[in-house]
Amino acid sequence: MDAPVRSLATKEIVLINAADSASTLFDEAAEPYQANAFPNLGLLTLGTALRTELAARGLSHQVTYFDASVTGNDELISYLEAHAPRLFAVCFSIYTANYVASARIAERVKRLDPNIHTVLGNDGFSAIWRIAMRRRAAFDYGFYGNDVVEGFSRLMADLAERRVVDLGRYPGLVFRDPANNGRIARNEEDPEEFNRLPMVDYSLTRGPFDHDARYLAEQHRSMPSLAARGARGVTIEFARGCLKFGGRRNDYGVPLNACDFCAINPGSRAMIGADAERAWAIIRSAVEQGYNYFFVTTDELPLTFWPLLNRMAERVPDWYRDMHRDDRPRFLCYARADAFKANKLHRIDLMMEQLNYDTFWIGLEAFSTISLRAMNKGISASRNGSQDMLEHNLEAVACAAQRGARIGAGLIVTHLGITPDIMETNFRILDDCLQRHAQAFMEITVNLLYPNPGSLAFDYLRMPSSARDAAGRLGLEVDYDYLRSVQGKYAEEDMIDTDELLLDFMRGCCPAVTIEQAFDYRNRVSELVSSHGIQLV
Ligand code: SF4
Repeated sequence: MDAPVRSLATKEIVLINAADSASTLFDEAAEPYQANAFPNLGLLTLGTALRTELAARGLSHQVTYFDASVTGNDELISYLEAHAPRLFAVCFSIYTANYVASARIAERVKRLDPNIHTVLGNDGFSAIWRIAMRRRAAFDYGFYGNDVVEGFSRLMADLAERRVVDLGRYPGLVFRDPANNGRIARNEEDPEEFNRLPMVDYSLTRGPFDHDARYLAEQHRSMPSLAARGARGVTIEFARGCLKFGGRRNDYGVPLNACDFCAINPGSRAMIGADAERAWAIIRSAVEQGYNYFFVTTDELPLTFWPLLNRMAERVPDWYRDMHRDDRPRFLCYARADAFKANKLHRIDLMMEQLNYDTFWIGLEAFSTISLRAMNKGISASRNGSQDMLEHNLEAVACAAQRGARIGAGLIVTHLGITPDIMETNFRILDDCLQRHAQAFMEITVNLLYPNPGSLAFDYLRMPSSARDAAGRLGLEVDYDYLRSVQGKYAEEDMIDTDELLLDFMRGCCPAVTIEQAFDYRNRVSELVSSHGIQLV
């Protein structure tokens, strides 16, 4: 790795995606960490905005993007140690699986030099912001939510100029309030910034370490169709949020309508999107930077942002129209199964025919009505009991197969109150579906439900009555006494052992099934998927 220390005079701000902490339940010995196939768009957006802010103020700080999912944390730590004399700040993108590793790295950096600023953000931090800041003296600042890019950039630049006077003026900032005995405080986000954000500068991925080449190799390994076309993919965002983030939230701010495994931080606004012109400008910017395959990060795009897609089709820009159809960029997006209902199929047709979407990642999750209800998959909590979501799943697969779309799908093989009988029902219907439509599937993930902090499923552990009530509505059972016995741990701890979290969820929320049964069942489902020639990811 080429990691030259340029000049001690040039200060450096490192934006970090740490690799996951090891799991004894899941990790193969040969694979100590799982490389990402696409860059961390949040860090790239922060890095682009920060560079702009620093340059506008005549500050020469170097901004470095470092994704340790492609290098491992040892490389990251070596880099930070070698660069310690000029480090100004280290900023971590947090999700549950990399929180412990990130905290340990932040503590190590503080031991190297306590003056280096440490900053955290992203969904994994937003889910536990208060506990994390209370428990970890090594964390100087955090940012809650997504609409924090300008607040972050301004804070970094103000720290560099030593002119931070009022911590209350940085949107989304989480801090120890000096005016209130160091009490943990949090500023509101600023959703208005969304349409002011700069076009992402993807060259950040080619800093001291060439992440871009590694991402490309991983894309071509995991999606052979991209390799065959020589496609170069990146993540883009022109809208954000989900219909299900609207409505009431629980005491921890988690939307009660959300799917119970969903740990996306909804921010203060359920949904926000660009206009069609800006969406096309975002695409054009990425095309001009050499990319031609776009993973649109927007949640459930055809359902949540149909008016925007429709306007994009009406206002196709000349540069795109002038490209030969084969040269136009292609797109992959998330879609809910109910976006494929008969009365919405024109949306899918428009996306495929006019906007060049060729792959839909559909969270099918399960193949029985009771499983889908248990995961709160309905469009809202109140309609969860009345919609036939199994029918939506089956229709979605059939429609995608008819249209020649490729499907990536997620299957979740456990959930609140699951029983062996429910597992068998899911298996039988999935088997039948694959026998008829296996050719539509590009890849499938098969997982146990993982109760990430920030999800309703995690809150079953810190609010056991919510688990008992949700299961009771479906005639299912939880082990309420067990959940009560672990409640304090999940209400108070930040350094959560991710394996223990899964085991506690299984024992408390799925008492009719052992962890061994769950893994055996996952393996059976995986074998079924593989037997149809579908790639498991
Ligand atoms: S998982 Fe569910 S709640 Fe989360 S973004 Fe998708 S549809 Fe919305």
